[in-house]
Amino acid sequence: MSTRQTNQSAKSAKRTPKGMYRISPDRIESYLKLFRAQEGLCFYCRQPMIMPWPGLYRLPVPDKQITREHLIVRKKRPKGARSPIVGACKACNHDRGGRPSWAAYLCSKQDWGPK
Ligand SMILES: [Zn+2]
Repeated sequence: MSTRQTNQSAKSAKRTPKGMYRISPDRIESYLKLFRAQEGLCFYCRQPMIMPWPGLYRLPVPDKQITREHLIVRKKRPKGARSPIVGACKACNHDRGGRPSWAAYLCSKQDWGPK
């Protein structure tokens, strides 16, 4: 792979090397609340998630690692409004992407609900 991307993030005071990602202690605290509330299971697929430690990791993010999932996608939120957040594995979070209805996506993952 030889594609070079310029990383011009304004908040890059603490540089994250190319091909790596950083998980801050604050982020872990937020993950942990969700992880505990959901007994370590993904909101969508109900499979066990990986709970990381703070630190610097090599990309890609593991499919089973916990992510913060905004139930209400940005486009559907009134300006400035916050979305409820749940813990979802990276695979589900990416798979749902910008689908507007979290409930419809949940049903599709769990094989119940209206078809
Ligand atoms: Zn999942």
